[in-house]
Amino acid sequence: MCGIIGCVGKRPAAALLLDGLHALEYRGYDSAGIAVMDGETVSVVKTKGRGDRLEEKLREHPLQGTMGIGHTRWATHGEPSDVNSHPHTSMAGDIALVHNGIIENYLEIKRWLMDRGYRFASDTDTEVVAHLVSHYDQGDLVRALHLAMTRLRGSYALAVMSVR
Ligand code: GLU
Repeated sequence: MCGIIGCVGKRPAAALLLDGLHALEYRGYDSAGIAVMDGETVSVVKTKGRGDRLEEKLREHPLQGTMGIGHTRWATHGEPSDVNSHPHTSMAGDIALVHNGIIENYLEIKRWLMDRGYRFASDTDTEVVAHLVSHYDQGDLVRALHLAMTRLRGSYALAVMSVR
């Protein structure tokens, strides 16, 4: 069972998110990742495997910023791998999200998005949400998310972050 976490405040987000992910470890997971916003860009570090691997990667690529989201994954769509780990991002990299659950109609939405030029990096059901939110985003993330959610079927919890 996966876990999601988000934080916004004045303290460095990466350390807070790692603490939060450790607290969720008891639920079991196969991959973990975080995205942090530094005010202008969203940066992602994610990996298949345990939290100590994520910490190692974060030491190599420290993330600066006080807003972020994190995820421990229990794969349902797409094997456990670095690329299938969350967070997933829009093609422009301006939106990042983590997801708990299953998008039942993801294939239908994926085909619809691919017909409109969206390219997919992973095999997950989750990535359709990142591109769908991006498709509807005209500067108001809440509205874009609301529109995207009218198209999603399944059971899911999301944490979404945008540079705008
Ligand atoms: N269905 C998503 C995936 O396979 C989320 C799984 C989860 O809840 O961890 O990536």
